[in-house]
Amino acid sequence: MQTIFVTGGAGFIGSNFVTWLLARPNLKIVIIDKLTYAGHMLNLQDVLGLPSVSFIQADIADRSTLDRLFTEHSPDVVLNFAAESHVDRSIDNPAPFIETNTVGTFVLLEAARHFWMTLTTEKKARFRFLHVSTDEVYGTLGAEGLFSEETPYAPNSPYAASKAAADHFVRAYFHTYGFPTITTNCSNNYGPYQFPEKLIPLMILNALEGKALPIYGDGRHVRDWLFVEDHCEGLWMVACQGKPGEKYNLGGNNELSNLELVNLLIDVLEEFEPAHENQPLHRQGIAAYKDLKVFVDDRPGHDRRYAIDASKVKAELGWAPKFTLLTGLRKTVQWYLSHRNWCEAVLAENYGRERLGLKN
Ligand code: NAD
Repeated sequence: MQTIFVTGGAGFIGSNFVTWLLARPNLKIVIIDKLTYAGHMLNLQDVLGLPSVSFIQADIADRSTLDRLFTEHSPDVVLNFAAESHVDRSIDNPAPFIETNTVGTFVLLEAARHFWMTLTTEKKARFRFLHVSTDEVYGTLGAEGLFSEETPYAPNSPYAASKAAADHFVRAYFHTYGFPTITTNCSNNYGPYQFPEKLIPLMILNALEGKALPIYGDGRHVRDWLFVEDHCEGLWMVACQGKPGEKYNLGGNNELSNLELVNLLIDVLEEFEPAHENQPLHRQGIAAYKDLKVFVDDRPGHDRRYAIDASKVKAELGWAPKFTLLTGLRKTVQWYLSHRNWCEAVLAENYGRERLGLKN
């Protein structure tokens, strides 16, 4: 039996990860989450109550609580998902990003390392601290090339800078203390339970409600999309088989401009909720979802292109994404269509889908 700490487990990727992990035998899962606007108990409704899962509301920057949790639960693996994750919010107010992503990760590292030092040699050797990070730390690409694990860090948003700083601490803890850390840098995720401030769920909900589909700048910013379940599998393979001190890039091999992505999403929406049957569109005399697209001011510092070279994790651990973009988008659209109550509940009092992140 192994005990796994999942920080940020009530957020988008963390909650998907917990569900994914439940299919693996002999695991106890301890979710640690502060429950910010982006974390919701509803994301855990299918897993809470199971004897193998427990939830603790706590801040990863709270050292004394972490010390108590490490002593009480004695984890074998820590996966750190806890973060402020929305670039636009980091433009409006960087402070919480530094507090959680950088300082919080540092405090979690310290608590984990002090706990690790109390372990037997055998348990020490098996312990892993996996830090879940982003490809945004690498900055922006031109028309050619891919981010590899050797690409120098060049973060351009406060979000990316706060994650980059954390990644450096995670690396330093391996080199300085021999503490068994691993970092993953992943491309854009999509799937169920993503808070509707992010591009894909925002576009789905706006389209269904006949609201504008805001496309930043010229819409030609390129992202590499990965279905969240594929990310979860990759993370677990890295946690189980990855080499301490290493970093691994995870990506979808699915490069699309934002405009191409929105067009594809519109096609998928048309399959499941045809525009001609959509009452909000009908009431406004709008015939097609594509007529909702509007170009809006670009995001300050908007990186032009991200694309991941995931050949290391494939060669060393055998991971590759299983979902095509179309399959993943179909699953995602169907999920949002059948979870309108979830959308209302997580948005209530948190976010009215207004534009964020315009320097003012
Ligand atoms: P999310 O915003 O949906 O969830 C973050 C979770 O962390 C929330 O449940 C929130 O309550 C919790 N949290 C925030 N501050 C905390 C704190 N101080 N202590 C404890 N919990 C706290 O984010 P996500 O999209 O699920 O991303 C998870 C991780 O994956 C992040 O570290 C992010 O940087 C990384 N990542 C995300 C993507 C993506 O496309 N979403 C891609 C690559 C990497």
